[in-house]
Amino acid sequence: MKSNQSRFSHAIVMGGSLGGLLTARVLSNHFEQVTILERDGVANQPEARKGQPQARHLHGLLATGLQVMTRYFPDLPQALKNNGAIMVDFANTMQWYTYGGYRKRFKMGLDATLMSRPLLEHLVRERVLALPNVTLKDNCGVLGLVTSVSGDQVTGVQAQNRDSGQQELLSASLIIDCTGRGSRTGQWLKELGYQPAPESEVRVDVGYATRVYQRNPADPRGREWVLCTPEAPKENRFGGIFPIEGDRWICSMGGWLGDHAPLDESKFLEFARELPAPDIYDIISQAEPISEIIPHKFSHSLRRHYEKLRRFPAGYLVLGDAISSFNPTYGQGMTSAALQVAELDALLGKSKSLDGLALTFFKRAAKVIDIPWQLAVGEDFRFPQTTGPKPPGTDFINRYVAKVHQATLHDEVVGEAFLKVMNLMAPPPSLFHPRIVWRVLRGKRPSSNKTAVLQPAAGD
Ligand SMILES: Cc1cc2nc3c(=O)[nH]c(=O)nc-3n(C[C@H](O)[C@H](O)[C@H](O)COP(=O)(O)OP(=O)(O)OC[C@H]3O[C@@H](n4cnc5c(N)ncnc54)[C@H](O)[C@@H]3O)c2cc1C
Repeated sequence: MKSNQSRFSHAIVMGGSLGGLLTARVLSNHFEQVTILERDGVANQPEARKGQPQARHLHGLLATGLQVMTRYFPDLPQALKNNGAIMVDFANTMQWYTYGGYRKRFKMGLDATLMSRPLLEHLVRERVLALPNVTLKDNCGVLGLVTSVSGDQVTGVQAQNRDSGQQELLSASLIIDCTGRGSRTGQWLKELGYQPAPESEVRVDVGYATRVYQRNPADPRGREWVLCTPEAPKENRFGGIFPIEGDRWICSMGGWLGDHAPLDESKFLEFARELPAPDIYDIISQAEPISEIIPHKFSHSLRRHYEKLRRFPAGYLVLGDAISSFNPTYGQGMTSAALQVAELDALLGKSKSLDGLALTFFKRAAKVIDIPWQLAVGEDFRFPQTTGPKPPGTDFINRYVAKVHQATLHDEVVGEAFLKVMNLMAPPPSLFHPRIVWRVLRGKRPSSNKTAVLQPAAGD
């Protein structure tokens, strides 16, 4: 993946979370030197930081996300396994209750990667920082942009060491904002006399609560991932429990429209017991908790439409959650960042100069964001209370996709088509292929698929 020669001198990546690390990896192909500036102190171990509170919650990695990351770090799957992540057949190990039954299992030949988010990030960071031309400056917050006198070109950033308070000016020919949802680029653009990106907000009022538990390594359920997702709008709660490294379970539960999972221990258990499938309650009611119950509120999905701007300063880009932050229950954010990064790599690979990079990149990034955005907000609009820009045709599509969900309970051909779309491996219209439509519309719900498949380990 490495190009023969770096054609550009220095790039700065603001934000050293997963989006920033992946960005630094591809920039290392094209720049002599890449510097990542991260506001938090970063430990050389798997650890959630203040600037990424979401890292303490359940994170599923879509198959496409793993594929793109593996392209850049070929030993990543092996490293994940060596560090205790569980990699199992995606469709054959799902215990996924939805629409009144469990989705039918089958061998798909595609890996589900079950690990904590801090482990994934740590392994990616190790690999990025092993590159000779990438440096991480942690405890280093970016305060603002530095531009040419005309303001047309971003030439550097003003950064501050959080320990000493000392400020410094760092220059680069390309600066990329990977500071996540709280990105200040909109404000900075206004100060420079540019229009900020128009925004789409889809209000969902989702509330997570997460707890980590000890896992008995002999428990066969530790080779499975469990999800319980609502038949919206009549249900609005979800839950998930994944086995992760260190013989642990991570369990996140929550609900849409303010029906948030409680933080009180007995109410948390009660919330699990009230889910329509027993799996999560069965596990957590018997396992030893090893963390507090940690909340996370997510009011709305947010998309900043940089692709609609006509003017943008040269030498500057935005990427990852800073462009689009999706309702996290669909597990798309890391994969969306990886896909944007791959677009950037391809674009830089054929660019002789950095002129005009931003507007072309934003158009390409928008194309890869469009699909997960439509999938996420489409599902959210099953709730009539959801507000925000509703893509045309959503109600019609949702009526059909409800039948797709039902068909996945007994039909593995439909199941595979659905999982490919969900994993961003196939476009959503593939669910409308006549072969799939026929199977979906003839389908009936079998009653046999309403019980869990695996039993707990003896002595559990
Ligand atoms: C509750 C929850 C659950 C999620 N679950 C999933 C999931 O299952 N699957 C999935 O794929 N995605 C999930 N996501 C989304 C995923 O976490 C993000 O998409 C992913 O972290 C990539 O984001 P990012 O790197 O662009 O930004 P972030 O992860 O938000 O990182 C931004 C970084 O920038 C740093 N920073 C901020 N300001 C400055 C500054 N001024 N100077 C320097 N550094 C700065 C921060 O400290 C932070 O490290 C979830 C999100 C939430 C909220």
